[in-house]
Amino acid sequence: MSLDAARMSAWVARCADLMTEHHAELTELDTAIGDGDHGDNLVRGFRAATEQITERAEVGKAPQSASEVLQLLGASLLSHVGGASGPLLGTAILAAAKSLEAPVEGETPSQTFARMLESGSADLARRGRAELRDKTMLDAWEPAACAAREAADASAPLPEAIEAATTAAAEGAERTKPLRAVRGRASYLGERSRGHVDPGARSAVLILQAGLDVVGN
Ligand code: ADP
Ligand code: MG
Repeated sequence: MSLDAARMSAWVARCADLMTEHHAELTELDTAIGDGDHGDNLVRGFRAATEQITERAEVGKAPQSASEVLQLLGASLLSHVGGASGPLLGTAILAAAKSLEAPVEGETPSQTFARMLESGSADLARRGRAELRDKTMLDAWEPAACAAREAADASAPLPEAIEAATTAAAEGAERTKPLRAVRGRASYLGERSRGHVDPGARSAVLILQAGLDVVGN
Protein backbone atom coordinates (compact mmCIF):
# COMPACT_ATOMS: atom_id res chain seq x y z
CA MET A 1 0.00 0.00 0.00
CA SER A 2 1.43 3.36 -1.00
CA LEU A 3 0.47 7.01 -0.73
CA ASP A 4 -1.01 7.64 -4.16
CA ALA A 5 -3.12 10.60 -5.31
CA ALA A 6 -6.42 8.93 -4.38
CA ARG A 7 -5.34 8.09 -0.83
CA MET A 8 -3.82 11.51 -0.28
CA SER A 9 -7.01 13.18 -1.56
CA ALA A 10 -9.08 11.03 0.82
CA TRP A 11 -6.67 12.03 3.61
CA VAL A 12 -7.29 15.74 2.94
CA ALA A 13 -11.07 15.20 2.87
CA ARG A 14 -10.87 13.27 6.16
CA CYS A 15 -8.85 16.17 7.65
CA ALA A 16 -11.69 18.56 6.72
CA ASP A 17 -14.19 16.25 8.47
CA LEU A 18 -12.03 15.77 11.58
CA MET A 19 -11.33 19.52 11.90
CA THR A 20 -15.08 20.11 11.67
CA GLU A 21 -15.79 17.44 14.32
CA HIS A 22 -13.14 18.92 16.61
CA HIS A 23 -13.86 22.56 15.81
CA ALA A 24 -15.15 23.34 19.31
CA GLU A 25 -12.15 21.69 20.96
CA LEU A 26 -9.65 23.59 18.78
CA THR A 27 -11.54 26.84 19.38
CA GLU A 28 -11.46 26.25 23.12
CA LEU A 29 -7.72 25.52 23.15
CA ASP A 30 -6.96 28.62 21.08
CA THR A 31 -9.29 30.75 23.21
CA ALA A 32 -7.33 29.74 26.32
CA ILE A 33 -3.92 30.81 24.97
CA GLY A 34 -4.62 32.64 21.69
CA ASP A 35 -7.43 34.39 19.83
CA GLY A 36 -9.81 31.45 19.36
CA ASP A 37 -9.57 31.17 15.58
CA HIS A 38 -7.57 27.96 15.14
CA GLY A 39 -10.64 25.76 14.58
CA ASP A 40 -12.08 28.24 12.07
CA ASN A 41 -8.74 28.51 10.31
CA LEU A 42 -8.21 24.82 9.81
CA VAL A 43 -11.79 24.01 8.90
CA ARG A 44 -11.65 26.75 6.25
CA GLY A 45 -8.27 25.66 4.89
CA PHE A 46 -8.99 21.94 4.65
CA ARG A 47 -12.47 22.51 3.23
CA ALA A 48 -11.09 24.82 0.56
CA ALA A 49 -8.51 22.20 -0.41
CA THR A 50 -11.12 19.42 -0.49
CA GLU A 51 -13.43 21.49 -2.67
CA GLN A 52 -10.63 22.30 -5.05
CA ILE A 53 -9.63 18.64 -5.39
CA THR A 54 -13.27 17.71 -6.11
CA GLU A 55 -13.67 20.52 -8.65
CA ARG A 56 -10.49 19.47 -10.43
CA ALA A 57 -11.65 15.86 -10.58
CA GLU A 58 -15.00 16.95 -12.04
CA VAL A 59 -13.29 18.60 -15.01
CA GLY A 60 -10.94 15.67 -15.54
CA LYS A 61 -7.97 17.41 -13.94
CA ALA A 62 -7.64 15.43 -10.72
CA PRO A 63 -4.20 15.63 -9.10
CA GLN A 64 -2.08 12.79 -10.45
CA SER A 65 0.22 12.16 -7.49
CA ALA A 66 0.40 12.51 -3.71
CA SER A 67 2.83 15.35 -4.28
CA GLU A 68 0.32 17.24 -6.43
CA VAL A 69 -2.39 16.78 -3.79
CA LEU A 70 -0.08 18.19 -1.12
CA GLN A 71 0.86 21.12 -3.38
CA LEU A 72 -2.80 21.95 -3.72
CA LEU A 73 -3.34 21.62 0.04
CA GLY A 74 -0.35 23.81 0.90
CA ALA A 75 -1.49 26.48 -1.56
CA SER A 76 -5.04 26.36 -0.15
CA LEU A 77 -3.79 26.82 3.41
CA LEU A 78 -1.60 29.71 2.28
CA SER A 79 -4.38 31.49 0.45
CA HIS A 80 -7.35 30.76 2.75
CA VAL A 81 -5.87 30.80 6.24
CA GLY A 82 -4.52 33.91 7.87
CA GLY A 83 -2.70 34.01 11.18
CA ALA A 84 0.35 31.98 12.00
CA SER A 85 -0.89 28.51 11.19
CA GLY A 86 -1.83 29.12 7.52
CA PRO A 87 1.57 30.29 6.29
CA LEU A 88 3.53 27.94 8.59
CA LEU A 89 1.55 24.78 7.92
CA GLY A 90 1.02 25.77 4.28
CA THR A 91 4.72 26.13 3.50
CA ALA A 92 5.62 23.03 5.53
CA ILE A 93 3.14 21.05 3.43
CA LEU A 94 4.61 22.54 0.24
CA ALA A 95 8.05 21.38 1.45
CA ALA A 96 6.62 17.91 2.05
CA ALA A 97 5.10 17.99 -1.46
CA LYS A 98 8.46 18.93 -2.94
CA SER A 99 10.18 16.06 -1.14
CA LEU A 100 7.79 13.67 -2.88
CA GLU A 101 8.38 15.10 -6.35
CA ALA A 102 11.46 13.01 -6.99
CA PRO A 103 10.73 9.43 -5.93
CA VAL A 104 13.69 7.65 -4.35
CA GLU A 105 14.55 4.36 -6.02
CA GLY A 106 13.63 1.34 -3.90
CA GLU A 107 12.04 3.36 -1.12
CA THR A 108 9.23 1.69 0.84
CA PRO A 109 5.94 3.59 1.41
CA SER A 110 6.87 3.97 5.09
CA GLN A 111 10.23 5.48 4.14
CA THR A 112 8.47 7.90 1.79
CA PHE A 113 6.06 8.85 4.58
CA ALA A 114 8.96 9.41 7.01
CA ARG A 115 10.80 11.56 4.45
CA MET A 116 7.65 13.61 3.87
CA LEU A 117 7.20 14.28 7.62
CA GLU A 118 10.88 15.06 8.09
CA SER A 119 10.81 17.62 5.26
CA GLY A 120 7.66 19.28 6.59
CA SER A 121 8.87 19.33 10.17
CA ALA A 122 12.30 20.75 9.26
CA ASP A 123 10.66 23.49 7.17
CA LEU A 124 8.29 24.34 10.04
CA ALA A 125 11.16 24.61 12.53
CA ARG A 126 13.15 26.83 10.17
CA ARG A 127 10.36 29.19 9.12
CA GLY A 128 8.74 29.36 12.56
CA ARG A 129 12.16 29.66 14.22
CA ALA A 130 10.73 27.11 16.62
CA GLU A 131 12.51 24.55 18.70
CA LEU A 132 11.18 21.58 20.61
CA ARG A 133 9.41 22.61 23.83
CA ASP A 134 8.62 26.13 22.53
CA LYS A 135 4.98 24.97 22.83
CA THR A 136 4.05 24.99 19.17
CA MET A 137 2.82 22.50 16.59
CA LEU A 138 6.46 21.47 16.13
CA ASP A 139 6.19 19.65 19.49
CA ALA A 140 3.82 17.23 17.75
CA TRP A 141 5.30 17.19 14.21
CA GLU A 142 8.93 16.56 15.15
CA PRO A 143 8.32 13.49 17.35
CA ALA A 144 5.89 12.25 14.69
CA ALA A 145 8.62 12.46 12.04
CA CYS A 146 11.08 10.64 14.35
CA ALA A 147 8.56 7.89 15.08
CA ALA A 148 7.79 7.49 11.38
CA ARG A 149 11.51 7.16 10.64
CA GLU A 150 11.96 4.55 13.37
CA ALA A 151 8.99 2.58 12.07
CA ALA A 152 10.30 2.79 8.50
CA ASP A 153 13.77 1.66 9.60
CA ALA A 154 12.13 -1.32 11.31
CA SER A 155 10.38 -2.18 7.99
CA ALA A 156 6.92 -1.45 9.42
CA PRO A 157 4.17 -1.25 6.79
CA LEU A 158 2.63 2.17 6.06
CA PRO A 159 -0.42 1.92 8.39
CA GLU A 160 1.91 1.05 11.30
CA ALA A 161 4.22 3.95 10.46
CA ILE A 162 1.26 6.35 10.41
CA GLU A 163 -0.01 4.90 13.68
CA ALA A 164 3.40 5.34 15.32
CA ALA A 165 3.55 8.94 14.09
CA THR A 166 0.04 9.65 15.37
CA THR A 167 0.82 8.23 18.81
CA ALA A 168 4.07 10.20 19.02
CA ALA A 169 2.28 13.38 17.96
CA ALA A 170 -0.42 12.83 20.60
CA GLU A 171 2.23 12.35 23.30
CA GLY A 172 4.08 15.43 22.05
CA ALA A 173 0.89 17.51 22.10
CA GLU A 174 0.15 16.39 25.67
CA ARG A 175 3.68 17.39 26.69
CA THR A 176 2.98 20.99 25.58
CA LYS A 177 0.48 21.41 28.42
CA PRO A 178 2.84 22.46 31.25
CA LEU A 179 5.13 24.43 28.93
CA ARG A 180 5.40 28.20 28.69
CA ALA A 181 4.93 29.39 25.09
CA VAL A 182 7.83 31.26 23.57
CA ARG A 183 6.55 31.53 19.97
CA GLY A 184 3.39 32.90 18.38
CA ARG A 185 0.42 34.58 19.99
CA ALA A 186 0.45 32.31 23.07
CA SER A 187 3.86 33.73 24.02
CA TYR A 188 2.19 37.08 24.81
CA LEU A 189 0.66 35.34 27.85
CA GLY A 190 4.03 34.40 29.31
CA GLU A 191 3.58 32.25 32.42
CA ARG A 192 -0.20 32.21 31.91
CA SER A 193 0.26 30.08 28.79
CA ARG A 194 1.07 27.11 31.04
CA GLY A 195 -1.62 24.50 31.72
CA HIS A 196 -3.11 24.29 28.21
CA VAL A 197 -2.31 22.04 25.25
CA ASP A 198 -1.07 24.03 22.25
CA PRO A 199 -3.87 24.19 19.63
CA GLY A 200 -1.50 23.70 16.68
CA ALA A 201 -0.02 20.61 18.31
CA ARG A 202 -3.52 19.22 18.82
CA SER A 203 -4.52 19.84 15.19
CA ALA A 204 -1.31 18.11 14.08
CA VAL A 205 -2.55 14.98 15.87
CA LEU A 206 -5.87 15.25 14.03
CA ILE A 207 -4.12 15.57 10.66
CA LEU A 208 -2.17 12.37 11.33
CA GLN A 209 -5.24 10.64 12.76
CA ALA A 210 -7.00 11.43 9.47
CA GLY A 211 -4.22 9.56 7.65
CA LEU A 212 -4.66 6.59 9.92
CA ASP A 213 -8.42 6.62 9.30
CA VAL A 214 -7.84 6.54 5.54
CA VAL A 215 -4.91 4.14 5.27
CA GLY A 216 -5.27 2.38 8.56
CA ASN A 217 -6.08 -0.89 10.05
P1 ADP B 1 -2.84 32.65 15.13
O1 ADP B 1 -1.92 32.30 16.26
O2 ADP B 1 -2.24 33.63 14.20
O3 ADP B 1 -4.21 33.03 15.60
P2 ADP B 1 -3.73 29.94 14.68
O4 ADP B 1 -4.54 30.14 15.89
O5 ADP B 1 -4.42 29.34 13.51
O6 ADP B 1 -3.00 31.28 14.25
O7 ADP B 1 -2.51 28.96 15.01
C1 ADP B 1 -1.87 28.98 16.24
C2 ADP B 1 -0.83 27.87 16.26
O8 ADP B 1 0.24 28.18 15.38
C3 ADP B 1 -0.18 27.70 17.62
O9 ADP B 1 -0.96 26.88 18.45
C4 ADP B 1 1.16 27.09 17.28
O10 ADP B 1 1.09 25.69 17.25
C5 ADP B 1 1.42 27.58 15.87
N1 ADP B 1 2.50 28.56 15.83
C6 ADP B 1 2.43 29.87 16.11
N2 ADP B 1 3.64 30.45 15.97
C7 ADP B 1 4.50 29.46 15.60
C8 ADP B 1 5.90 29.40 15.29
N3 ADP B 1 6.68 30.48 15.32
N4 ADP B 1 6.42 28.20 14.94
C9 ADP B 1 5.65 27.09 14.89
N5 ADP B 1 4.33 27.09 15.16
C10 ADP B 1 3.77 28.25 15.51
MG1 MG C 1 -5.37 31.78 16.75
